[in-house]
Amino acid sequence: MSNLTHAQWQEKAASLTINGQAFINGEYTDAQSGETFDCINPANGKVLVKVARCQEKDAKIAIDVAKKTFESGVWSGQSPVQRKKVMQRFAALLAESHEELALLETLDMGKPISESYGVDVAGAINCVNWYAEAIDKVYDEVAPTGDDEIGLITREPIGVVAAIVPWNFPILMGSWKFAPALVTGNSVILKPSEKSPLTAIFIAQLAEQAGIPKGVFQVLPGYGHEVGEALALSMDVECLVFTGSTGVGKRLLQYSGQSNMKRVWLEAGGKSPNIIFADCIDLKAAATAAAWGCFYNQGEVCVAGTRLLVENSIKDEFMPLLVEATKAITPGDPLDPNTTMGAIVDDVQMNQVLNYINIGSEQGGTLISGGERVATETGGYFVPPTIFDGIENCSRIAQEEIFGPVMAVIGFDSSEQAVAIANDSQFGLAAGIWTSNLNKAHKVAKALRAGSVWVNNYNGGDMTLPFGGFKQSGNARDKSLHALDKYTEIKTTLIKLED
Ligand code: NAD
Repeated sequence: MSNLTHAQWQEKAASLTINGQAFINGEYTDAQSGETFDCINPANGKVLVKVARCQEKDAKIAIDVAKKTFESGVWSGQSPVQRKKVMQRFAALLAESHEELALLETLDMGKPISESYGVDVAGAINCVNWYAEAIDKVYDEVAPTGDDEIGLITREPIGVVAAIVPWNFPILMGSWKFAPALVTGNSVILKPSEKSPLTAIFIAQLAEQAGIPKGVFQVLPGYGHEVGEALALSMDVECLVFTGSTGVGKRLLQYSGQSNMKRVWLEAGGKSPNIIFADCIDLKAAATAAAWGCFYNQGEVCVAGTRLLVENSIKDEFMPLLVEATKAITPGDPLDPNTTMGAIVDDVQMNQVLNYINIGSEQGGTLISGGERVATETGGYFVPPTIFDGIENCSRIAQEEIFGPVMAVIGFDSSEQAVAIANDSQFGLAAGIWTSNLNKAHKVAKALRAGSVWVNNYNGGDMTLPFGGFKQSGNARDKSLHALDKYTEIKTTLIKLED
């Protein structure tokens, strides 16, 4: 953890020079049109910097550069051990800029500085290192053919990879894509969210300093429907990796069909159930984990446990513990290291959250915590943890992704009913189970249609574990060696042997 004080972070922020340019072919540059858009600090509503508004022309230039670098072999032709060393240097340079990156993330996106520093940037550095270290330890295969032939199964980089990422964990989600894509030898174009482009822009220079050849890693800030769409419709982008909403993910599948059938790997939305059984080992610990599991990062987390399923027989005991645990999560200045909850990313997102809070009340939920915007005098977009009890799983706040600090509490009476409610969702990203009964834990974990199931914890995991969803939560996995599959094509080479 950084030991900078609130005042020191504020001082650093005041003297920070922020770059809002695109990074194309090894140079920071304005958009071809010269247009920009405002990047806002959600903690006070003020403009931080004007950012290059890349569009189709910029995408075309970057794609042409990426294609040329890929075909030249300048990176794709390097050995895994060579790429490993460069990526390790990249991770070391990220670590040298740990504080500056954390500061940019907090100013840009509104999350508490302790989290930007300790989770987002730390996680991104770890991710780059992890894939760097892994890549020269992954072997190809020889098929079990007859004695008169040899069947080689080898993996090759795909080509130009476009990574389109969201704003809730900008550098972390970015690293989950660009690190495995780069170590496998691809040329990568990173398109950060228009709501949080600053860390992506910053790290481009570090990639180059580390020795990633010019044009192999480029960053195009801009809007999804402009530069994002241009990347997704390109005939020369061979692989599109995406983290974001289910709606945009579906559109990307269509763009692929309309263009070159590029591989499209999606990490999308969620509405994850967190199930508290009456035989849970420690109700207080479960209540604390349920609060953080829903409200961490202002509730702007794809796996947030937004549907809290509580067995009716313990509900009266559990709910006060939950409300008490939630008190530790209160909005404050994101630059204060003691702040546990920051600002919602922008006014659009905040209004969406407030609208869903109205819907929760209209549809008969009992509001037991939060419920309205706070700290308006700051000019920032702050909404405290909001809990609705007595929610039916069919209600809108239990079915639709809000992507903010709103929890729907739903009662149940049996394991079967809990599983039925949990699985009654278009999403299948994650789920939590709290029980002391091992048999029940296994049975319920098997029955849940979710990509990650946490037993007696919520949102645990590290780089060794795949991360992704069932159903409309996506079709891919980030993290772990499994992620490498997305960035490689399998080639079969069959060699006939002469007698
Ligand atoms: P979003 O779908 O609005 O945007 C994601 C990215 O897609 C942004 O960079 C955006 O500019 C781009 N985009 C938007 N329209 C596009 C288009 N027509 N063509 C190409 N690109 C386009 O999502 P968001 O609001 O930035 O992020 C929140 C969403 O991300 C939530 O649904 C959340 O659940 C999801 N998410 C999922 C995971 C996961 O691993 N499953 C992780 C984090 C966030």
